[in-house]
Amino acid sequence: MRVSILASGSSGNITLLETERTRLLVDAGLGKRETLARLAAIERDLDRLDGILITHEHTDHCGGLPQALGLWKAPLYVTEPTLGALRRILPDTFGKRLNRVESIQAGQCFSIGDIEIHAFALPHDAADPIGFTFRTNGTKVAICTDLGYMPNHVKLHLRETDCLILESNHDLDMLKVGPYPWVVKQRVLSRTGHLSNHAVSEFLADPEGFDSRARYLVLAHISQENNNPDLVRLSAEEALRRRPAEAAFTGEVLIASQHIPLKPLDL
Ligand SMILES: [Zn+2]
Ligand SMILES: [Zn+2]
Repeated sequence: MRVSILASGSSGNITLLETERTRLLVDAGLGKRETLARLAAIERDLDRLDGILITHEHTDHCGGLPQALGLWKAPLYVTEPTLGALRRILPDTFGKRLNRVESIQAGQCFSIGDIEIHAFALPHDAADPIGFTFRTNGTKVAICTDLGYMPNHVKLHLRETDCLILESNHDLDMLKVGPYPWVVKQRVLSRTGHLSNHAVSEFLADPEGFDSRARYLVLAHISQENNNPDLVRLSAEEALRRRPAEAAFTGEVLIASQHIPLKPLDL
């Protein structure tokens, strides 16, 4: 499996997953021109897509969906509540370009081509937000962003992943003194907001939580106002050093960017 994070953050999220047979997009948060530019930047020319999966209806995850459906005419995989929210939020072109919708649910397992997918519920302030794990040929990838805290069932889904894409949204101190209005700060900090660097370090340091099998640990959905990539890396690496030697993490820590695609990861 090849994983290419084209964009990650509150201005747009898109990830491309590919096997020899199957190509999927997870979220479509950038417009057509930017999406195509980022695909070109990683030397991908997508002539077809086997599915577009949407995690939830926040604009940074679905703003470019009508255009993506126009470009690739791919089946859309969403939960019913998210589809309802998408119909309310997106322009009419969305409904017109929908040809095949596959209704999915948190807790469900389904396949697209040779990729087996699990959807799991996330605590986030959207209609029915979900994360995904993807498996093919003994390789497992997880995408887990936009969640206020780490419930146990989420930790379980993230075990045995070879590539873990995990939100590390904000630094608590930067958020507190930062430019957001108080209500927005409250929203981000809530149990249905976003994961802080601190929450991520608690998870990463704990062998009962994070099993450290991942070859790639990608920290994602990093706030541009209330965090910075160096801080995210420092915080994660400090947490990983706290792990007991027998459960040491030996993989690579990567930071996904809002502005440039991450190098494609081959698993
Ligand atoms: Zn988001
Ligand atoms: Zn969101």
